[in-house]
Amino acid sequence: MQEKLAIDGGTPVREKLLPYSRQTVSDDDIRAMEEVLRSDWLTTGPTVGKFEEVFASFTGAKEAIAVSNGTAALHAAMFALGVRKGDEVIVPTMTFASTANAIVFQGGTPVFVDSEPDTLLIDPTKVEEAITEKTKAIISVDYAGQPCEYEALRTIAREHNLPLVDDACHAIGGLENGKRVGTLADINTFSFHAVKPIATGEGGMITTDNEDYAKKMRQFRNHGLTSDHRERQERGSWFYEMTDLGYNYRLTDFQCALGMSQLKNVPKWTKRRQEIAGMYDEAFAGMSAVTPLKVRDNVSHAYHLYVVRLGIDRTKAFEALRAENIGVNVHYIPVHLHPFYQRTFCTKKGMFPVAEKAYEEIISLPLFTGMTDDDAQDIVEAVRKVCTHYAK
Ligand SMILES: *Cc1c(COP(=O)(O)O)cnc(C)c1O
Repeated sequence: MQEKLAIDGGTPVREKLLPYSRQTVSDDDIRAMEEVLRSDWLTTGPTVGKFEEVFASFTGAKEAIAVSNGTAALHAAMFALGVRKGDEVIVPTMTFASTANAIVFQGGTPVFVDSEPDTLLIDPTKVEEAITEKTKAIISVDYAGQPCEYEALRTIAREHNLPLVDDACHAIGGLENGKRVGTLADINTFSFHAVKPIATGEGGMITTDNEDYAKKMRQFRNHGLTSDHRERQERGSWFYEMTDLGYNYRLTDFQCALGMSQLKNVPKWTKRRQEIAGMYDEAFAGMSAVTPLKVRDNVSHAYHLYVVRLGIDRTKAFEALRAENIGVNVHYIPVHLHPFYQRTFCTKKGMFPVAEKAYEEIISLPLFTGMTDDDAQDIVEAVRKVCTHYAK
C-alpha cells in the first residue's frame, strides 16, 4: 500500500523543515570573532590582510582580495578587466543572476551561452562560437560546485587573447586535474553568504596571480582611493586620491575573523559533502525518476548543491517535497529569462534550449555539512515517496 503524501493530508517525513543549506558556526568561530570585536579595528584592520593571506595560501593563488560579497567580487573583476559600455562578456545562462549583473554594472553586455546537458556546466564549444570582436572576457561558473572544463576554456581564452573569470561561488574546496579552485582562471570569485560552503553572513573573496588586477580590485573595493584608513593612520597623513570610480565593497575585520576560522574546515567539510552526495548517488541509482547530474572525470566536486533531474513533474514534486518538510530548491531560472534581461537585452525563451529544458526538470536537495546520515536518509525516503506517487 502506498503512503499518503503530506500534501494530501498524510504525515510528513520530517516534523520540521530541513533547509537546502545551512551554515555551521562553532564556538571557535565565535571566539575568533569576539577577539576582533574587542580589538581596535572593526574594519580596514589587520584581520583583513590575514584572511587574504591564508585564503591565498589555501588556494595557491598569489593574491586574495576580501570584499563584501560574491557579487562585489564579480563586479571588481569586471572593473579590473576594463569592461565598459560596448564590451561583450560571455556568461552561462545557467547561473545566479548576479554573475551577469556584474557585467551590466560596468555597462557591458552579457552574451549568454548554453550549458552541457549532463553537467549543466558552460559548454566550451558554445563559448567559442559566441566570441566576437567586442568580446572582452569570458566568465565560467562552477555550477553546483563542480569545476568546469578548464583545459578547454583556458585554451579558447588564450587563443583569442581573452581573460577568463571563474565564478567559483559554489566551488571552494574543489579541484580540476589536481589544480585547486581559485587558480583555474585569471580571476576567481567566491561568496561567503550564509548558504555557501563557508559563511561570514555576507562576504566574498577574489583570487588572482595578476598583481595589476589585484591592485585595481583593492582600490575598487575602497571607493577607488589610493590608500585606506589604516594606511593613512599609520603614515600619519590625511592625503589620498580617488583615481577611479570605486565602491564601498569592504569586508569587516570580524567577518574576516569568522571567514578565517571557517576556512580551516574546508577539507573536512568538502569530504563530508562528498560523502552525503555519495549516499544520494547510491540511493538514486535505483530510482528511474531521479537522475543526478554527471560528475566529470578528474574533478573533485565541492558539492555546494546536489542537483537532480526529475522524470516526474518538477513543480508537483517541489510542492510535495516541501509538504514533507524537505527544503528543496531550484537553481536556477536561466538568467536570460528574467524580465530585466528580456527587456534590456532582448533575450527570450527558446534561445538556450539545454538550460531551459533543464530548468523545467531540476531540483536541488538539501546538502550541508551539519546534516546527519539520518537527515540524508529522510530526504531519500521523501524523494522515493513522492516519485512513487507521481510515477503512477
Ligand atoms: C551566491 C552567488 C553569487 C553572489 O554571491 P553573493 O555573496 O550573494 O553576492 C554569484 N554567483 C553565484 C554562482 C552564486 O552562487
